[in-house]
Amino acid sequence: MVHELNLRILPQQAYNEQSIQAYLRQEKGIKADAVRVVRRSLDARQRTIFVNLTVRAYVGEEPPLTDFEPYIYKDVSEKPAVIVVGAGPGGLFAALRLIELGLKPIVVERGKDVRERKKDIARIRPEQKVDPESNYSFGEGGAGAYSDGKLYTRSKKRGNTDRILQIFVQHGASPAILSDAHPHIGTDRLPRVIENMRNTILSCGGEVHFQTKMTELIIEEGRACGIVAGGQEMKASAVILATGHSARDVYRHLAENNIEIEAKGLAIGVRLEHPAHLIDQIQYHSKQGRGKWLPAAEYSLVSQVQGRGVYSFCMCPGGFVVPAASGPEQVVVNGMSPSNRNGRWSNSGMVVEIRPEDFEQFKIDKTIIPDLSLSLLYLQEELERQCWLQANRLQTAPAQRMTDFVNGRLSADLNESSYAPGLIASPLHFWMPDFISTRLREAFKLWGKQKHGFLTSEATVIGIETRTSSPVRILRDNETLQHIRISGLFPCGEGAGYAGGIVSAAVDGERCAESAATYLNL
Ligand SMILES: Cc1cc2nc3c(=O)[nH]c(=O)nc-3n(C[C@H](O)[C@H](O)[C@H](O)COP(=O)(O)OP(=O)(O)OC[C@H]3O[C@@H](n4cnc5c(N)ncnc54)[C@H](O)[C@@H]3O)c2cc1C
Repeated sequence: MVHELNLRILPQQAYNEQSIQAYLRQEKGIKADAVRVVRRSLDARQRTIFVNLTVRAYVGEEPPLTDFEPYIYKDVSEKPAVIVVGAGPGGLFAALRLIELGLKPIVVERGKDVRERKKDIARIRPEQKVDPESNYSFGEGGAGAYSDGKLYTRSKKRGNTDRILQIFVQHGASPAILSDAHPHIGTDRLPRVIENMRNTILSCGGEVHFQTKMTELIIEEGRACGIVAGGQEMKASAVILATGHSARDVYRHLAENNIEIEAKGLAIGVRLEHPAHLIDQIQYHSKQGRGKWLPAAEYSLVSQVQGRGVYSFCMCPGGFVVPAASGPEQVVVNGMSPSNRNGRWSNSGMVVEIRPEDFEQFKIDKTIIPDLSLSLLYLQEELERQCWLQANRLQTAPAQRMTDFVNGRLSADLNESSYAPGLIASPLHFWMPDFISTRLREAFKLWGKQKHGFLTSEATVIGIETRTSSPVRILRDNETLQHIRISGLFPCGEGAGYAGGIVSAAVDGERCAESAATYLNL
């Protein structure tokens, strides 16, 4: 017999399946042989913290091995080919979906496989420079490979996010991501999952080419019919372009070849790093912090300041701030965390919404911008370069104590930080554009009042966070997902401006694969 129950219990009672079984026995008189958690969320709004659970209790019978039917990937080696440019979540999920639909994916990726890539990332600290083809943005797994692996998306509209989570589980992610309200995989586990996805593609007869950069789209009579990559022509009747938001050379290639794109709004700001125990104390309303049974605390903050949204972005509890530049003369920061989120610090992007029409505010010389559709890309580049100059042309990041940033003072000294290449004291309040720094300072003051202890000299503001989403949208038809003028070209994922995060990029990848199959009459 199976009982399905909704429970609201203490963290120590909800800690694992054994503690839930004990609770059911003592409080409900149910002697379950096994339990499975269907849904788990934390309610930390009050001093007493509860875990809300939906569980299935199995009495006298075994639970099923998995809660979903495994996806079947058949041999496609002799089937029509579709080129997929980019092996981020958009490209990888497009490739897997193509296989399900009976098409052969040929994936080309400018970076290295996920293991080799890790070595290049590790070299950033000692060498103080970034490999322009293998870094936190480029390489197998895309921008999401060395991340927190957060898998929640605000948008449920665009596709079936459960499918995406199930495919992650089928490739080695913890089944807990299917039940957690805020699932995440963690940077230590993601590479294995990504390798398993690649192995599925290869074992079905698909192709994956690393260190193979697409330099040109081949377009004949308004139809995409292939690419030039790694110096070679590759032909196919459909091309899924999933190159992510950092492939600035791709945007320039599109602009130079009059392939329709437009400037897209994004958000720019800083990373804010607190000691993790401080965030735990604030969020769990207790001097003891998270104690033994609770995970590192998360937060999510949003305000309107002077007509623009200011918000926390990609929060990494117990995580690290990382050097996320993808080329020379750039300093860019982002965040990642391991699966157990047990690091000493918690960080989050703190960003201000920028719209294309705001570009006028930034006083960038328009004569050097060949195409206004690239205006926000230029803004990103300009700020990342300023940051690099502040950092003495290294990968050290300019930083300031949070209170000094708010009060407009250079910090005499800095807090310890998880940012491995090192920090350098810099007056971010002064050199960052007023449009951004004034709003951030106002929001920090506001949030300091809302959350006692949040605005503190123990927190560090680190510059600069510019890669929150794509500065460009590649224009596509809403129905067919093909580029508005070039048939057979499917702009996909975050880089095309249709996703913002791992899950939404994956959903968009699947949709592009389905549209490519329709286009090829399958
Ligand atoms: C450090 C960090 C942490 C993050 N944490 C999270 C998180 O916890 N949760 C979340 O949802 N999102 C997170 N993100 C954002 C998330 O990674 C992206 O939204 C997502 O990866 C976008 O997927 P995509 O496939 O569209 O593009 P990408 O992941 O950017 O993939 C694009 C791929 O295309 C390749 N490529 C580019 N140009 C070419 C070319 N010319 N030829 C061949 N290949 C090319 C790139 O090398 C790259 O592998 C994080 C990002 C970073 C950088």
